[in-house]
Amino acid sequence: MTDCLFCRIALGEIPADVVYQDDSVVAFRDIEPQAPVHVLVIPREHVPNVTELTEENQSLASDLMLAAARVAAREGIAYSGYRLVVNNGPDTLQSVHHLHVHVLGGRRLRPSLG
Ligand code: AMP
Repeated sequence: MTDCLFCRIALGEIPADVVYQDDSVVAFRDIEPQAPVHVLVIPREHVPNVTELTEENQSLASDLMLAAARVAAREGIAYSGYRLVVNNGPDTLQSVHHLHVHVLGGRRLRPSLG
């Protein structure tokens, strides 16, 4: 039994609107969407953030990127454009400490990078 919210979503213990999954990752709609398309892509394996990636699990990084591209294609925003955001640590207000990539699109996004 884990108390990590996103581990529990990956295990199917907590419901989520899953839009894509494979052996390595799960992608589901953000509960508080900031854009018409707002999907979170997470590794099934628990890694708190990018800082904690190691050589042992480095393939997760490419798995997340490929899955984000698949999600964008399925959501119809592959060519209109989308932003990938990975909050990492306190200065970014990362609120869920399980590595996740935000896939944001479906409207013209503001140019802000923080
Ligand atoms: P971050 O601030 O980068 O850690 O992003 C965490 C994201 O998780 C936020 O955008 C939340 O809206 C989202 N979130 C939190 N709980 C859930 C949930 N149960 N299902 C889907 N998204 C969630």
